[in-house]
Amino acid sequence: MTRLLLIGPPGAGKGTQASRLAEAFAVPAVSTGDIFRFNVKNETALGLEVKAFIDAGAYVPDSLTNAIVKDRLGEADAAAGFLLDGYPRTTDQVAELERLLESAGTKLDAVVLITADTDEVVARLLKRAEEQGRADDTADVIRHRMDVYAEQTAPLIDVYTSRGLVVTIDGLGAVDAVTDRILEALAERGLHATVTI
Ligand code: ADP
Repeated sequence: MTRLLLIGPPGAGKGTQASRLAEAFAVPAVSTGDIFRFNVKNETALGLEVKAFIDAGAYVPDSLTNAIVKDRLGEADAAAGFLLDGYPRTTDQVAELERLLESAGTKLDAVVLITADTDEVVARLLKRAEEQGRADDTADVIRHRMDVYAEQTAPLIDVYTSRGLVVTIDGLGAVDAVTDRILEALAERGLHATVTI
């Protein structure tokens, strides 16, 4: 029954850590970025609607993003916990998540903030561009995504900090080392993984 959020700038390694943490806590990882990319790739109605925003490094409108998260968290496998990666990213999304949790009679256990040095994350994203060819991993779009993060998402950290939920983790270093840091910090808060990874 663990409900976690992962927050961090583009390139901090959220996606990689999300799937590992989800496995460790035996909960589904829900990534809004992955859901959007899947829909773009398959040219669904949602995909066609969101493609231009994503390619430009802009946020998808809250109405669309909130709707897909509401649907996804309403699925059976999310009833006993979840790990949200890349959501909420705006104050409106924070409010929507609050409503969803309240109506389910549940609450968040922790917000994992993965930090990373800007030069390092830009270098990582440019490398990923070569490897995966993501349309939003060009130098200009990366810079824009960082700005949008600083403006719209970084302020959420204060909101969750004031609720005593934030666990800050340095995202630099080997993938395993970062996972261990997160698991250790969560265990210190009484949140123990159920599966050894
Ligand atoms: P990154 O964190 O590296 O930017 P993501 O996969 O989390 O990668 O997101 C990729 C893109 O998907 C974002 O730039 C944005 O266009 C869209 N997106 C993902 N999550 C959200 C969200 N919660 N709200 C609005 N747009 C989102």
